[in-house]
Amino acid sequence: MIIIFFGPPGAGKGTQASLTAKTLKIPHLSTGDILRDKLLDQDTLSIKLKNLMDSGNLVSDDILNEIIVNRLKLPDCQSGFVLDGYPRTMSQKIFLIDFLESHDLSISKIIDLVIDEKIIIHRIKSRSNIENRLDDREEIIKTRMVKYIEETKPLSNYFKTKYPNDYHIVDGDKDIEKIQEDILKIVKNEDFQP
Ligand code: AMP
Repeated sequence: MIIIFFGPPGAGKGTQASLTAKTLKIPHLSTGDILRDKLLDQDTLSIKLKNLMDSGNLVSDDILNEIIVNRLKLPDCQSGFVLDGYPRTMSQKIFLIDFLESHDLSISKIIDLVIDEKIIIHRIKSRSNIENRLDDREEIIKTRMVKYIEETKPLSNYFKTKYPNDYHIVDGDKDIEKIQEDILKIVKNEDFQP
């Protein structure tokens, strides 16, 4: 199974993607986590990455596409994977679709988590206190939201149109367990009423 998670920062994508991957026993590929791991290298590239990420801006498509292609080629992705945080731009989307098509792979489900903007700000601020993520500071949240609306949100429309039967909007403003239940119903093709 290949599952793609969409949703604004703070919608609970990471949590839900991780739970889903665990249940399906396939890898959870979070590009945010992969990039945060890279920051530990403390080389020239990691300093550049850190500046971009701390300011709420996106890292370049070339870097992301290379990260993803290297990860998808590993044996643990052969029976499927959950993508969290990728694709985030039109160019990443084109790259991913080309990669999947050339490997005879098809997307099983697209889960788009939707949530009210006020709740997002509140959630991100409390995550900032718990996880001490610099990019969760209030002034940076705005930049991340703008990037999401300008670069990533338009991809939802693309997927909605191209995969009308596999694209699902999920209400992210519920308990973690309830949201996960909703997602698993979709993944297992059971009746799902939002
Ligand atoms: P996340 O944990 O998904 O919120 O990602 C944290 C940060 O990593 C983002 O604000 C971006 O700076 C960077 N990032 C993660 N995924 C991508 C991506 N697909 N394209 C560009 N930048 C990304």
